[in-house]
Amino acid sequence: MFVRVALDHPLPTLFDYRGEPSTQLAPGMLVQVPFGKRHVVGLVCEVTAHSDVPPERLRDAGALCAACPPLSAEWLALAAFAADYYQRGLGEVALPALPQALRDASRWARLFAPEERYRLTPAGRSALPDALPARASALRRLADALAAAESIEAAEARAIHPKAIATLAAWQADGWAERQVIDAAAARDLPRLANTELPDPLPIQRPTLTAEQAQAVDAIGAADSFAPFLLHGVTGSGKTEVYLHALSALLDARPDAQALVLVPEINLTPQFEAAFRARFAALPDDAIVTLHSGLAEGERARNWFAAHLGQARIVLGTRLAVLASLPKLALIVVDEEHDPAYKQQEGLRYSARDLAVWRAKQLEIPVVLGSATPSLESWWQADQGRYKRLTLARRAVADAALPAVRLIDLEEERRRGRASLEGLSGPLVAALKGRLERGEQSLVFLNRRGYAPALSCDACGWVAGCPRCSAYVVLHKPERALRCHHCGWEARIPRSCPECGNVDIAPLGRGTQRVEEALATAVPGARVLRIDADSTRRKGSAQALFSDVHAGEVDILVGTQMIAKGHDFQRVSLVGVLNADTALFSHDFRASERLFAQLMQVSGRAGRAGLPGEVLVQTRYPRHALYHALGRHDYVGFANSTLAERRDAHLPPFVYQALLRAEGRTLEAALAFLQQAAAALAGISAAERVTVYDAVPMTIVKVANVHRAQLLLESASRQALQATLRAWQPALRALKGVLRWSVEVDPLDI
Ligand code: ADP
Ligand code: ZN
Ligand code: ZN
Repeated sequence: MFVRVALDHPLPTLFDYRGEPSTQLAPGMLVQVPFGKRHVVGLVCEVTAHSDVPPERLRDAGALCAACPPLSAEWLALAAFAADYYQRGLGEVALPALPQALRDASRWARLFAPEERYRLTPAGRSALPDALPARASALRRLADALAAAESIEAAEARAIHPKAIATLAAWQADGWAERQVIDAAAARDLPRLANTELPDPLPIQRPTLTAEQAQAVDAIGAADSFAPFLLHGVTGSGKTEVYLHALSALLDARPDAQALVLVPEINLTPQFEAAFRARFAALPDDAIVTLHSGLAEGERARNWFAAHLGQARIVLGTRLAVLASLPKLALIVVDEEHDPAYKQQEGLRYSARDLAVWRAKQLEIPVVLGSATPSLESWWQADQGRYKRLTLARRAVADAALPAVRLIDLEEERRRGRASLEGLSGPLVAALKGRLERGEQSLVFLNRRGYAPALSCDACGWVAGCPRCSAYVVLHKPERALRCHHCGWEARIPRSCPECGNVDIAPLGRGTQRVEEALATAVPGARVLRIDADSTRRKGSAQALFSDVHAGEVDILVGTQMIAKGHDFQRVSLVGVLNADTALFSHDFRASERLFAQLMQVSGRAGRAGLPGEVLVQTRYPRHALYHALGRHDYVGFANSTLAERRDAHLPPFVYQALLRAEGRTLEAALAFLQQAAAALAGISAAERVTVYDAVPMTIVKVANVHRAQLLLESASRQALQATLRAWQPALRALKGVLRWSVEVDPLDI
């Protein structure tokens, strides 16, 4: 008997091993196998009676992971689809999707091992402290640890004192301690409620659904096979409530059904988790679990198992959760489906939203894609009737109107000689002061972190650049550093210009730190809080900062897109937008779609609880069509006109794209590789329906001393593009001369 095993290895093949016929090998099981000089964990994909590998080269498969029930055929098919579609090996997709503890066979034994714990009896609690010899400090620490906790694990005790178990046995004999063995079955009950603090869920009671919400919930509930819904609801229209009702209907109707809810950012999970726990209070704690990269490894493994074993009824997670094993999956929700964060930008470059739709199709279940600003891809699917559109046109809270949008013409301000302070215009400062007086909150949005995007010398024109990248370095004032946002290179801020010695070097442009500083001067007395990737680096800090905002301990919140997404800020009545113009003239054809979505999202934070909301956008181009659409809250108009432009220009979603990227020691090497790769397309018949563009350097051509270039492939036929990419792989693998290359399907940044 033979097994064909997927390994986390770039070769896109399965590896054959001899299997012991007595072991019950089946697809979906994890098995330890020898690979070269190492032992690695593989996923059994097939069990067969013969192998094409010559017998003398076949090696024996090792132990199976008994603690992990096999992954289902559906899950294997999902991994196989993702591998095929994104042009990777099956093992490269499947194994990284599993918890770390499963990918290391040395840890299997402990996965569900019986747990041995000790605790003090009441007699022990009173007698022990006096019974210990004065100088027995290790024993005292052991006794203290036992006294401090309900019980401790054998391993913990051993860590305190190597002979702890013998001591505990003696104390047991004296009637001072008790030993508890929690058997494997109970230890299986791995998931435990994460003891993170959750924000207070809002609101406490169930609101009555609006007519639009009720219609959406009914439509989702009525679906009994594959049904993709595009839930287009303006900000504050109560999309969350629609998800909650749809989940509730499903969980009530089917006691074993599971649901997957995806959110674009880790920071949005606590708010959803709190809402789910409050609404589904009758479910056991471990029926609602989260999956994201911010979890500790053990917790992530526990939660993964809860999903895999069917105990978790609701799995709430970021993009990686789309690859979770969910044997009873019956509903998928993708909130803020337009968000670029659903696209993984390294390794397996997949779109979690697209995989979610594929998964729903595979399982013949409904999938709800929710957004106030759907991606043009999804909008176009709905236009064609492939997705069913559900519309929430009004805000859910009575008298919470959409905010009024006002454009502040920066040119006009300048012409009229009106003062602006560090990039904050007069009208914006006045509005911020007004909010402060009324005790309302404001939010200032700027999509650039750091103090200033560059540091320059007026005298000679020097600009601080990264020695390893073709990019300027960002000035970080609180950290007193220059930092490269591309490779992480860091240096102290120089005192003078390294080129000419001028001491008058100055920051160029503005980032969130500089705006934070300016706000403190411009709006005296305001409590200003900055939220961006720098201020939230420590685990849990973002949540603490957001809690401060919810608790009303902040007057002005300044930040990047982190503050724009999904948060239900009740007391924000003003949103100021700085520096948005740069995206208007980007070479990236998706820049305006992204900007529009960001501005709609951030505007949507204003006026949610009935306070009249206002949005002030500082711009040099107040007549730009994008700002006009924003002012009218006209997503539909914007989407339709942008789609028409895309159609004329033959851009996605009207064509399908793929990129071949190459990284070389020199730009010439990278370009030469791509040119050879392009030449290799000549022999592929499907490539006749594919347009191949010239190989070009990437916008930031050098990162960390590596030169990068790319080749764009495009086709009106997804099948032709897929067939081309597949047939191309052997030729690509045979090419040499670069450090790395990769294929990306449906790239977002080109
Ligand atoms: P969205 O995600 O669409 O921006 P949310 O789901 O955050 O909107 O809801 C916005 C606010 O409206 C929340 O405070 C929510 O509690 C409230 N809400 C939702 N549905 C209703 C309803 N039917 N009646 C009253 N309030 C509602
Ligand atoms: Zn200089
Ligand atoms: Zn760099």
